[in-house]
Amino acid sequence: MGKDEKKLILVVEDESDLQMIISRSLLKDGYEVLATSRGDDGLRLAREHQPDLIVLDLMLPGMDGTEVCRALRRDSEVPILMVTALGGEGDRVAGLEIGADDYLPKPFGMRELLARIKALLRRSRLPKDYNPVVQSTEDRQGFVINQERREIFLFGKPLLLKPREYELLRFFIENPDQVFSRQQLLNTVWDADFQGDVRTVDVHIRWLRQKVETNPANPQMIRTIRGSGYLFKK
Ligand code: CA
Repeated sequence: MGKDEKKLILVVEDESDLQMIISRSLLKDGYEVLATSRGDDGLRLAREHQPDLIVLDLMLPGMDGTEVCRALRRDSEVPILMVTALGGEGDRVAGLEIGADDYLPKPFGMRELLARIKALLRRSRLPKDYNPVVQSTEDRQGFVINQERREIFLFGKPLLLKPREYELLRFFIENPDQVFSRQQLLNTVWDADFQGDVRTVDVHIRWLRQKVETNPANPQMIRTIRGSGYLFKK
């Protein structure tokens, strides 16, 4: 996965004109775009496609923006830019309290939106509580874990991992050569109150393999143990 790879933005907005204008502006600016007019679809798409950022309307059919935001925050640190017609200070605070990273009251210009998106994407590349003191451990396979920055390097190159991928890979590296069932991984690596099912584990394993395996179709590190689960081969 190269640094030049296009960023994927998910747009959840039920005003079709606005959704179209936002999507076109993003495409023109070089982003990949997924768009939906429903909150529940937005949540599903976010989980399936792991966008780099979400533009989220507040008032939505299916599931409102605050609910979508809360649900996402149980499992993800994806930057969320909330857009809404309710522009009072109180709404702004509420938006940020439920886990949005920024807030843009309607009406707004596309330039403003693109600038906010750029800023959020830049910020999200620095981990929270950034601390330049490096605490890392290197193992024989070439993995280096930097716990302060929540980064993992493979042969000196940083892996671009989503928060849950980081947790999963770190768990594997720290517990090699042991078979873990999907349920065990779900219980250990995901939050206790995570409501997803074991297929979530399979999806994350697939993503991880694409980032760490020489040939993801024939994985040598993260192995499937048929009928049992997964094993990280040291
Ligand atoms: Ca709306």
